[in-house]
Amino acid sequence: MSVFPRISLKPEVNDYLKNVFLNKELLAAVGLQEAESRFQRLLTCLAHPPGHTCVRASTHLAPLMEIRHKLEEELNKQQMCGASTGEVSVKILPHPSIPDVLLLPVTGPRPVQQLSSEVVVGAQCGSAVLRGAHVFAPGIMASPKFMKSGDVVSVFSDLEGKCTRGAKSFQGKRAFLGNGVAEMDRSSIFCPDEPAKGIGVRMVEPLYQSPSFDGVLPSLAFLQNLPSVVVGHVLGPCPGERILDMCAAPGGKTCHIAALMGDQGEVVALDRIRNKIDRIRQNAQTLHLHSIKAYCFNSTQAVSSDPAQETEGPPFPPESFDRVLLDAPCSGLGQRPNMAVTWSLKEICSYQPLQRKLFRAAVQLLKKGGVLVYSTCTVTLAENEEQVAWALDTFPQLTLQPQDPHIGAEGMLGAGLSPEQLRLLQRFSPELSWDQADMPTALPGKANRDTIGFFIAKFLKN
Ligand code: SAM
Repeated sequence: MSVFPRISLKPEVNDYLKNVFLNKELLAAVGLQEAESRFQRLLTCLAHPPGHTCVRASTHLAPLMEIRHKLEEELNKQQMCGASTGEVSVKILPHPSIPDVLLLPVTGPRPVQQLSSEVVVGAQCGSAVLRGAHVFAPGIMASPKFMKSGDVVSVFSDLEGKCTRGAKSFQGKRAFLGNGVAEMDRSSIFCPDEPAKGIGVRMVEPLYQSPSFDGVLPSLAFLQNLPSVVVGHVLGPCPGERILDMCAAPGGKTCHIAALMGDQGEVVALDRIRNKIDRIRQNAQTLHLHSIKAYCFNSTQAVSSDPAQETEGPPFPPESFDRVLLDAPCSGLGQRPNMAVTWSLKEICSYQPLQRKLFRAAVQLLKKGGVLVYSTCTVTLAENEEQVAWALDTFPQLTLQPQDPHIGAEGMLGAGLSPEQLRLLQRFSPELSWDQADMPTALPGKANRDTIGFFIAKFLKN
C-alpha cells in the first residue's frame, strides 16, 4: 500500500496532538471546522519538505551577492555534470528581509510514474531524499532479488520501520519518493562481510526537486532552516559581548551568533554529548570563526555553587553572560519532512521538565539587563506557550520582548497567555500556509510560512 505522505504517529501521540490543536481557547476563537482542518493540514505538511531550501550565507566572509553568484555557478556546474537530481538551472533568491539568507525554491510534488522494480529505504533516509539527497547504501532496507547497477527503480520510504534489512520486497505502509538508477548490485548493498558505503541509488526523478548541497562552498553556504536563522537575529548579539549557547550541538546557531558579532567577543557553547562537541568545533573551523569555545557539559548544572570562583569553562558564576540562548532539546515534532514518528507519548512528554531545569540555569547565568532567547523545533503547547506562561509566573524579573525579525505567526492560544503576550511570541506554523486541498499555496511570503514548525520567545531580565 503506497500513500500520499502524511506523518505517521502512534495513536496516543495523534490523540495528544489533536487535543493541542483542538484546545478550548483555540476552538472558541476559530471554530471546530477550522481547528480540525488546521490539524489535518499539519499532519500532511509535516511529511513534506518546506517550500524552500534555506542557506545561511557567511556574510562575515563575503558580501551576500557574491556568495549567491558563486553558489549559482557551483550548483549549475554540478547539474551539468549530472551529479544533482535536477535538470533546470538553479534559481537562488535573497530573502526579502533577512540579510544573510539565500532561498532555493523546492519544486514538487511532481507527477512521477511508479515503476515495477522497487527499492525501500528507512524513514530517515526517506526524509533526506525528499530534501534533495540521493539514496545512500546504508539506508536501503529492501531491493529486488536480481537488482544490478544501472537498473531503473522506484524508491519508497518504510513509514513504520517494519521492513527487515535485506528483504526482496515490502508491502507494509510506505510512501513513494521518486525514481532513480541503482549504482550498486543488490549483493554489494547487503554484503555481510563489508558494509556498503556511498550512493546506492542516484535519484533522477525525485518527487521533490532541490539541488544536492553535499560539500558545496562549505565556508560560505551553511544549510540551516529559516526559523533557526531567525533565532540568531532575534538574540541580537553585539561585538565584544559574552554569550552562552546552552544546548549548542551541532553548532549552527553558535556559529551564526559568532558571525553576527563579527567574531569579536566570546561565544560559549555547551552540549551534554561529547562526540557532538567535535561537530561544533569543525563547523566553527570551516566557517573561520575563532570566538567560539565549546565544552561538553550538562547545562542543568552550569551554575557554579561557588559564585566567587572564576574559571574559563563551566560551571560559571551567576550573571556571567550578556545574552543566553536556550535552543532546548525538544520532541522535534516540527521537523520536516518527517514521515514517521515512532516515539511514545511518554517520550514526548518527558521534555517539559528538562526544559524547565535548563531554563532555571539560563535565568541565573544571565546578567541583569541581559537577553534570554528560548526556542524549540516542536509544535506542542507544553514545550512552547506553556513554558512561557510558567517562566513569567516563576521569574518575575523576566519580561517578554518584541522580536526582530518577526516573520512567523504569533503564539498559539491554549496556555492562558494574553493577546499582547501572544503577539510577542513567534510561532512558525506551516499548516497555516497550506490550503484546503492539502497543497502548499503560492501566497506571497510563502517562504516565511512554509517552514519547519518552530517556536521563539525573547525575554529581558530586569
Ligand atoms: N542549537 C543547536 C543548533 O542550532 O545546531 C541544536 C540543538 S538541539 C535542538 C538540542 C541539543 O541539546 C542536542 O544537541 C542535545 O545533545 C543537547 N542537550 C540535551 N540535554 C542537554 C543538557 N542537559 N545540557 C546540554 N545540552 C543538552
